[in-house]
Amino acid sequence: MKPMNCRKITASTQLCAIIGNPIGHSLSPLVHNAAFRHLGLDYVFVAFRVDRLQEAVRGIAALGLKGISVTIPHKVEVMACLDEIEPVARRIGAVNTIVNRDGKLVGYNTDWNGAMRALQDKIELQGKTAVVLGAGGAARAIAFGLKEKGAEPVILNRTVSKAEELASGLTCRFGGLELIDKLSFDLVINATSVGMSPDADRTPLNRTVLKNVLVFDTVYNPLKTRLIREAEENGCATVTGLEMFVNQAALQFELWTGQTAPLDIMKQVTARELA
Ligand code: NAP
Repeated sequence: MKPMNCRKITASTQLCAIIGNPIGHSLSPLVHNAAFRHLGLDYVFVAFRVDRLQEAVRGIAALGLKGISVTIPHKVEVMACLDEIEPVARRIGAVNTIVNRDGKLVGYNTDWNGAMRALQDKIELQGKTAVVLGAGGAARAIAFGLKEKGAEPVILNRTVSKAEELASGLTCRFGGLELIDKLSFDLVINATSVGMSPDADRTPLNRTVLKNVLVFDTVYNPLKTRLIREAEENGCATVTGLEMFVNQAALQFELWTGQTAPLDIMKQVTARELA
């Protein structure tokens, strides 16, 4: 048996956790515990596989957990279980972060800003046309962020009715995935699960459209998806899902602790684990 990476847990240690299902491969415990350790904070982070969401959320309040990360499949349903929802999370329609403020559970969304920070490291978004592939939770957060930053999102999805529903809320263009051949755009974002391990040989796009555009893949496992590899081979600038993951985690960390997150440490441990 491997020795446990033990630390001193006391009666005043604050507990944070991720809830979702499945949860076995989550990188959140790794990234948050590394950040807590680095800053010497008396916090610990664990993962809970949760089926019974309402009961789990009642338990969070009853046991006084400090912060919760929410992942698939609970990001929408959890909203009905909270005391308050921050206006941006309500507009996006999904919560990925809960903060326990003196017994009151408040819901936030850090996915949108995590994605925008990752993108803004590489590109000025104002006035750009951005094709978003997908219309699920990640696509909703990213399309909202693009609008917020003055870019024009175009939503393309396998199920066109879902693209239409998302686009109508944002007043932007939409269509099926095949429409990409007819569009002129500055960046393209994969917010579908296509290309995610174990189907890492798949890509949502024909590489012929990847010319003089920035390519952002929200999928972070594998670290370099086929889409990112082909974009690099075509000479395109790229942003990986790792950048979004670490930035959204850093924003969660700041909401829970009130301290600036050690972004470089969080990036290093995540990249090492995925490599
Ligand atoms: P979701 O709500 O379940 O949405 C999944 C999306 O993928 C839908 O638009 C779905 O299209 C599309 N899709 C699934 N299989 C497809 C296929 N075979 N061909 C074409 N489209 C397909 O999931 P989500 O929460 O938005 O997550 C989407 C991706 O974002 C995941 O890979 C996740 O890892 C990634 N993500 C990354 C981060 C990060 O921090 N890097 C954070 C959140 C999510 P239909 O509507 O037609 O079903």
